[in-house]
Amino acid sequence: MNAYAMYSQSRTLQHLRLLRAGVGGDFYPLTLGDWTSAGTGGNGSGSDSQLNVTPSAVNLITNADQGSLASWEVDTNFQSSASTSSSSAFYLATTSGSSVASNVQMSVPNQAAPVKPVLQRADGSYIGTVGIGPQPGRVTQTNMIAFTSSGTTLWTQPYDTPQIATAGGGVIGASGTTYDQNGNANGQLANMPTQSWTGNSYRLGSVNDVAFPATALANSFLIWPWGGSNTATQQQWYPPLASCPSSLGCNGGNVGYQQAIYNALADLITRLRNPVTVGKDANGNPITLGDLAQSKVFNKLGSSRTTAGFLNYLTDETPQFNDALTSSYCEKSLVPDVGTGVKPNCWLLKFPIGAQTVSEYFTNDPTGQQTDARTDTPSDPLRTFFRPQSIALRNSGWNSCNESVIVHEALHGWTGIQDRQLESKFCSNSDLPSDCITDSVWDNVLQKSPGLAATLAPNSSTPCP
Ligand SMILES: [Zn+2]
Repeated sequence: MNAYAMYSQSRTLQHLRLLRAGVGGDFYPLTLGDWTSAGTGGNGSGSDSQLNVTPSAVNLITNADQGSLASWEVDTNFQSSASTSSSSAFYLATTSGSSVASNVQMSVPNQAAPVKPVLQRADGSYIGTVGIGPQPGRVTQTNMIAFTSSGTTLWTQPYDTPQIATAGGGVIGASGTTYDQNGNANGQLANMPTQSWTGNSYRLGSVNDVAFPATALANSFLIWPWGGSNTATQQQWYPPLASCPSSLGCNGGNVGYQQAIYNALADLITRLRNPVTVGKDANGNPITLGDLAQSKVFNKLGSSRTTAGFLNYLTDETPQFNDALTSSYCEKSLVPDVGTGVKPNCWLLKFPIGAQTVSEYFTNDPTGQQTDARTDTPSDPLRTFFRPQSIALRNSGWNSCNESVIVHEALHGWTGIQDRQLESKFCSNSDLPSDCITDSVWDNVLQKSPGLAATLAPNSSTPCP
């Protein structure tokens, strides 16, 4: 068994390498690409032109027992006094042993991000997701895609994410829809299976059109998203929050943890944009909720921080809310290293030595508290790992708890400022836990917004559920 890690070196040359780590502690760098960035002019008066080529957004999955499959993006940006242009291209490479077996450009109509392989089928092809949008980097829709390792698209299905491979090359989507090997929908599960792949007892619930006995699940290269045996790691860094109908919170309804937190986000954005008056300022002039957020929250973070800027951060790219309890991402990679000021690369932390995962951190919190959420600080788009049970399901998720927590976490993602420093700005007692940041947002801002269900008591340090 071998492990792979991505790293990039940047000077004026950009190299993308795959680091293959063998069981004996041996390392082999594999070359995926080299790019040159260059500038001309200068002489103390600034460059006349600058070409920047940046590889990024690497996704990695195992390729049967032969090696790995990597996908990534290369952004090219050219700027001169006369013009600016930028473009992005997406790539796919496979490795075999200690060499690169294939390396091709991949293109899907309106592709905005590299494909994310999630599982591999018995025939060696992959099923994953691809972000679609008006321009590279701006993902407005996530589609399920089946593709070969040479970059050929086999089929796509809009708005779904692969969850489980089924026998014969089919797949079950996160929506509960089942697809055959050609991507044709052929059934709908009433409930997603909830037990471990390695256990024998599947609880498939009632099935409307098609039954999946456990023996029908593909067993060759299965990726089980809820724990258990895995052959790939990458997609587990950012596991989605449970979505109905599989979410425990559904209770027969249609609001699970994932729906609740995204409902809260949408409602928060609407409220901060709402032109309706919620009070008066010191001079008796009417103010909106956005004005209130400006004076009570953003002004404390420096003159460049505005409600409009915050809204732009939340809407320019869709925030990513993930399940903290199943994430294998490195907890240390969430914040900059104290010594270097740089967030450690998770792959390099993991290999050859293991690193504490986000899941382990939440399960065995060293602070002795029950952490509700951790945010990649800073991150753009916002990426927050939630303990699912800390998301309040009341009122379809539109409630003070969820919306105040989103503001709190987004402050980390947007500004890069960690709890200690935020506490000094928002809390009266520096010894208070970070819950006081959330409470301050509710007490001073969101509480003034009419009709927001109060799951947080005013002036209370009661944590969210
Ligand atoms: Zn915090």
